[in-house]
Amino acid sequence: MRQFKVIDVHSERQMYGEYFGYPKCCVKYFVENFDELPILNKRRKPLHGSGFIPCPDCSLNKTEEELIKEINENRKYEKPFAPFLETCPETGIWIRRKFS
Ligand SMILES: [Zn+2]
Repeated sequence: MRQFKVIDVHSERQMYGEYFGYPKCCVKYFVENFDELPILNKRRKPLHGSGFIPCPDCSLNKTEEELIKEINENRKYEKPFAPFLETCPETGIWIRRKFS
């Protein structure tokens, strides 16, 4: 008989957060405040629009560059976390994407 592992929605969100390398404190904040996030995030935070939501502590104390570095060091997902960055087609160098 096949057995299915039941994963509750909190564990699933936590699992994805860790897979993508997001800091543990931010994953915890995301999981615990999930329903309130649209209200809590009306104020612009670092890495706004990247899909990653930093916890209040990281929002205040870490720069976008520090967060990106930390995320990539812990990341299990194959593609690096490179919000707002793209590869220049001519040079192959990472460049900061311009906001329109
Ligand atoms: Zn955090």
